[in-house]
Amino acid sequence: MCLRHLKLGERKTINESSRQFEIMKEHRAPWECTYAKEDKTECKPGKKPKSDQEYFEIFCLCILQAGLNWGTVRKNWQRYRKGFYNFNIHKLARVQSKELMKQPNVVRNFKKIKDIVYDAKEFQKIKNEYGSFSNFLKSLKEMNDKEVSRFLMKRFKHFGEYTAHYYLHCVGYR
Ligand SMILES: [Zn+2]
Repeated sequence: MCLRHLKLGERKTINESSRQFEIMKEHRAPWECTYAKEDKTECKPGKKPKSDQEYFEIFCLCILQAGLNWGTVRKNWQRYRKGFYNFNIHKLARVQSKELMKQPNVVRNFKKIKDIVYDAKEFQKIKNEYGSFSNFLKSLKEMNDKEVSRFLMKRFKHFGEYTAHYYLHCVGYR
């Protein structure tokens, strides 16, 4: 048996067990979440954001990390903040998606970029309609969990059922 292979095999086992540990331990959403399929019983709801701006940044985090390696997205978050104008709602609502795509610090996914620009405009409309995003969420309190997720899926783009459900958890809605 080749010693080199044995060592590689051993290392893999150690990595897997530490990853297992990382997934299982108690943590708070969304910044401490490591993996889409983590054990959700260990995942405490996120703190309620203090401003529309903060609601929107977490919203973008949920969209940007969907389908990607969460750890990589987190590692690049400061870079993304730069590329996406600090996730400033008003700036993103005004920008042309094609111009944004040319920035060096954004994800190379035109659909996600276009949808984030669309959603920034929705956030602006919500502010006009309800005064704040927090008020908007409060207005949905009569609905059950599934209905709220479906309502958000209709209002926003790139916002599937899993993302909607996870987002509500991240902003401490439930
Ligand atoms: Zn989590």
